[in-house]
Amino acid sequence: MPKYIFVTGGVVSSLGKGIAASSIGKLLEAKGLRITLQKCDPYLNVDPGTMNPYQHGEVYVTHDGAETDLDLGHYERFTHAVIGKENNITAGKIYYTVIEKERRGAFLGGTIQVVPHITNQIKQYLKAVTKGKRIDVVICEIGGTVGDIESLPFLEAIRQFRHDVGRHNAINIHLTLVPYIRAAEELKTKPTQHSVGKLREIGIQPDILLCRTEKPLNKKVREKIALFCNVEEECVVQAPDVRDIYEVPLVFKEQKLDQIIVDLLRLKCHQEDLKEWEEKVVKRALNPSKTTQIAVVGKYIELQDAYKSIYEALRHGGIENDTRVEIKKVDAVDIEEKGPEGFLRGIKGILVPGGFGDRGILGKIKAIQYVRENRIPFFGICLGMQCAVIEFARNVCGFKEAHSTEFNKKTPYPVISLLEEQKRIKKMGGTMRLGSYPCVVKKGTLTHKVYKKEEVVERHRHRYEFNNKYVEAMEKNGLIISGQTPTGNLVEVIELQDHPWFIGCQFHPEFQSKPDACHPLFRDFIRASLEAI
Ligand code: GLN
Repeated sequence: MPKYIFVTGGVVSSLGKGIAASSIGKLLEAKGLRITLQKCDPYLNVDPGTMNPYQHGEVYVTHDGAETDLDLGHYERFTHAVIGKENNITAGKIYYTVIEKERRGAFLGGTIQVVPHITNQIKQYLKAVTKGKRIDVVICEIGGTVGDIESLPFLEAIRQFRHDVGRHNAINIHLTLVPYIRAAEELKTKPTQHSVGKLREIGIQPDILLCRTEKPLNKKVREKIALFCNVEEECVVQAPDVRDIYEVPLVFKEQKLDQIIVDLLRLKCHQEDLKEWEEKVVKRALNPSKTTQIAVVGKYIELQDAYKSIYEALRHGGIENDTRVEIKKVDAVDIEEKGPEGFLRGIKGILVPGGFGDRGILGKIKAIQYVRENRIPFFGICLGMQCAVIEFARNVCGFKEAHSTEFNKKTPYPVISLLEEQKRIKKMGGTMRLGSYPCVVKKGTLTHKVYKKEEVVERHRHRYEFNNKYVEAMEKNGLIISGQTPTGNLVEVIELQDHPWFIGCQFHPEFQSKPDACHPLFRDFIRASLEAI
């Protein structure tokens, strides 16, 4: 039976529970253990796919087409765990399942209640994540902050779970904040004490505390936290601010967090170190010898989390090229109003990410025209690729009002449009073209040079497609279709004949990039940016 580590968070949100959970995963993998990670989100949406980035940040897409929380992206970047549909559960999904069962009459006249029906369903999902797989440890992160009404059923479920499986088969790790109060020149432990108190009220005693802090915890503070929170002193682990998130596993290892977990769970494993991660990722991320500037032209640029995987993948490209990637976040609406020149002059590469809705579209098109004409490396992803097609149709092929039917249903040149089967779909949740699909790469193209492969598999999340009616006209004018579905019915990648580096892809390569295994498109985009004048 697999062992379980439950990770909860207290005091405030945004302490980096996802990164902490991923780092624990990394440490255990380094000890030869097979792990997986799971996220429980307390909101009532069935999945975050229908949520606005302002509400939720990026929607991370798994290989099997689940639209999930962005923490799952951290899980895949830090570890080798294969993350799929079962790895993200939401209160919405739990209630939906239970209510459907009730409608089917599956409860035989019983009254359906949060305890035991919702909690039992949660426990079932906690187990389902290992079905058919050989997993030694499940690291399960509970979203939200302890004390929230919403997360109570999840906390009750994990309390029961530990009771069911026994104390050496499941442990609780609580991530908390130890703030430094400048006026008093002191680290304060009270918020942590209260947060642990809140957990104890519902029957959960944390085994390990991860303390987020700006200043190192001294012995006295550690002792105090240990005493009042009822944990061993060595189990008070500090999680200081780091220069790079990929350093976190090293910081934890230094404090022997991996050994503490192994002992608590009585795991059998061998001793390994994180040398490769340290050499290949952390050192290279911290001390690059070159610098490049990449502009990301999007509409959620003021949000840190909206393009999380894109920013990370750009950094991976930097790590591989021994380069610091300075990301300039440009609001497409600003380009719409003021033109591209002032924002993009001197930039070494621009990336236009995915998105929905027409705000900022014209700005993205103007930015693409600028980089096409000025021969600056361009990387368009999903909507970014669609905008590149629209720009090319308008400004090179002379199809003046070319557009995507997402933004103008009556355009005379619908160069991006819906497939027939998508037109029939009325429900919004989970109905896009989602997850991994194969793509055949055309030999002799830049795309082929980058991938060095004829078939690749990439993740998708979109409804609209390149309209095949325009393939011929576009090709005549110098656009190259460098990637297609194996049957040749859908365009997956485009590039330009007469440009140093111009690639647009309908899929999302950022979801498969890792700090120690950068996605080839990001690696080569950063390389090309270094050669840009
Ligand atoms: N809105 C576009 C579509 O649905 C692009 C989606 C995206 O960029 N993820 O096809």
